[in-house]
Amino acid sequence: MLPGVRKMLLAGTILSAGLVGYLWRDTFESDSLKGARVLVTGASTGIGEQMAYHYARFGAQVVITARRGAVLKQVAEKCLKLGAEKALYIAADMAEPTDPDRVIKFAAKSLGGLDYLVLNHIGPSPFQMWNGDVDHARWLMQVNYLSYIEMTNSAMPFLKQSNGSIVVVSSIAGMIPTPFTAPYSATKFALSGFFGTLRQELSMKQESISITVCILGLIDTDSALRQVRGIVEAKAYPASEAALAIIKGGATRQREVYYPGFWQPVCLIRDWFPGMRDRVTQSTYNYKAVTQTTTT
Ligand code: NAP
Repeated sequence: MLPGVRKMLLAGTILSAGLVGYLWRDTFESDSLKGARVLVTGASTGIGEQMAYHYARFGAQVVITARRGAVLKQVAEKCLKLGAEKALYIAADMAEPTDPDRVIKFAAKSLGGLDYLVLNHIGPSPFQMWNGDVDHARWLMQVNYLSYIEMTNSAMPFLKQSNGSIVVVSSIAGMIPTPFTAPYSATKFALSGFFGTLRQELSMKQESISITVCILGLIDTDSALRQVRGIVEAKAYPASEAALAIIKGGATRQREVYYPGFWQPVCLIRDWFPGMRDRVTQSTYNYKAVTQTTTT
């Protein structure tokens, strides 16, 4: 190869690497969360609990919610110790029609407004083949999806006032269909559709409310590990890191967060060879183990 061409190739590679590095740089500034008024749902345990602790360390004012008040009380106390400007909790069941609005009113009143609405809770759902339980699917749709849009409706006036942010915690199961999760997966696909549309409409109305949808792979929370043990052979990533990735994505007003990051290119090419994709996905599941747990 001619020396001139080699130099040009080298320069091109360095420039591209620099550009990728620049575009992917971490622009998060923790000071931006000092005093921020944040509501985190599903914060009694798992990723939501870890998000509450990170927000607390950044000096935010947090309201946390889930069903178990006694557990929330302990999480709120730890938030105060970690540096939260305020830490309040409200017990609520997102299957109850009036609870989403009640929680938003409580948060906005006790914080004097709202900057971040972090929608993270999910109802328990069996990890098994679709068994025709439509009642469970309907209940899960209420908890995992409808309550999200009800909270968004109630929070909208406060978020408009603050040019705030909606952060939606979703899953790779809401981007790529995966076995043993039919009702759960449906709720997560619904979130992508709803919040993708809402983002466009807010932009058309020139409202500066950001929407960040977070697509997570397997995370090492107790509930997730209990379900997949012996069935899915995949690395589970730390809940605390997932929580931080979500918070940074919300604070920098990104459209999407992928954690771990390798799911982003996978999602980009997910529809290229759908048959092969399904076969590869199925091969990572232990079908025998799940049929045994389902029938016992
Ligand atoms: P988790 O540990 O099971 O926590 C779920 C939270 O939701 C708890 O705080 C629970 O508290 C609350 N909750 C359950 N039912 C509720 C109800 N009816 N009303 C109000 N709150 C309710 O879940 P996680 O693993 O941290 O997952 C958090 C988010 O990450 C979810 O959106 C999930 O889809 C997503 N995600 C997780 C993984 C993973 O591998 N862990 C992977 C992809 C995506 P109470 O029981 O006190 O109500």
